[in-house]
Amino acid sequence: MSRVDLDLVAEVLSDEPSYRLRQVWEWASRGASSYAEMTNLPARSRALLEERVPFSSLKLEHEATSLDGTVKALFHTREGHPLEAVLMRFRDGRRSVCVSSQSGCPLTCTFCATGQMRFRRNLSAWEILDQALHFKRIEPIDHVVFMGMGEPMLNFDQVIAAARRLPDLGVTHRRTTISTVGWLPGLTRFVDEVDEPIRLALSLHAPADALRSEIMPVNDRYPLDDVLAECRRYFDLRGRKVFVEYVMLEGVNDSAEHAVELAELLDGNVFKVNLIPYNPTGMYDGSSRDAIARFKAVLDGARLPSTVRLTRGRDIAAACGQLAVEAA
Ligand code: SAH
Repeated sequence: MSRVDLDLVAEVLSDEPSYRLRQVWEWASRGASSYAEMTNLPARSRALLEERVPFSSLKLEHEATSLDGTVKALFHTREGHPLEAVLMRFRDGRRSVCVSSQSGCPLTCTFCATGQMRFRRNLSAWEILDQALHFKRIEPIDHVVFMGMGEPMLNFDQVIAAARRLPDLGVTHRRTTISTVGWLPGLTRFVDEVDEPIRLALSLHAPADALRSEIMPVNDRYPLDDVLAECRRYFDLRGRKVFVEYVMLEGVNDSAEHAVELAELLDGNVFKVNLIPYNPTGMYDGSSRDAIARFKAVLDGARLPSTVRLTRGRDIAAACGQLAVEAA
């Protein structure tokens, strides 16, 4: 139920020519914030929409701005399920929105705060798009990452439907990234069915099954070999590298031996590693800057490309892994 919810718009405007639908989406996707702005629609249609289709499927409950300019928005769905989205502002001008694909998350990665809140449900494509549109009404955006709450591959159809419409908001497929724990049914469909050059990121976090299962229980279901094989298939078919996310947990996965193992596991032609400083969620200590630099040096030596992720929004609990709704 959203002004952007074109399914509902179509229902409400069913007596009108079909191009009306396109007009509504043109306005909405460019960041209009009311039906009144849609001046090429007859007043009667606008009034009908006003009455029957809420402008957004989401209700903004709270917004916080970090010292580094990051903005975190807490929304509720119509039934009151909480979710968060984040706008990251980078010095080079990049504006990246991190969207949630589910309210809560059914997986229980030990380092991630979202896994500790109750899972509610999958979000609809419109609810996903409305997160990005919220920020687009503030300023132009150029990147979207499906790295907020939830596991995108558990909500494959809605996530892909949303991603396919992002170019209308000014976000190209090459600037769209979907991150997964390696949920195989969805990942396999992604490789087989999605021809658009949407980027793939894999949350790896450990170079071997035993450790990975300890910190990411989902690994028992879909072990590393199978997940990495699917990532290689993506590379072979699409010719695009897979980003590997690796959160640096002190004394857990951050030793030089882990780095050597990781470099043996991953082919530098296929994978690019993103080392993520751990954002406090209570359970672990993060690796020191030195430890991260030493780890990276091993990867460099083995010619496995890597970068260290810039931490954004930690002071407002908007950083990776910190999205959770208190008392939820
Ligand atoms: N469920 C998907 C999408 C979420 S992406 C996935 O896991 O890939 C969120 C990213 O932040 C994941 O790579 C996740 O592992 C990482 N993350 C989770 N908790 C974190 C923490 N406390 N500090 C830093 N990164 C974290």
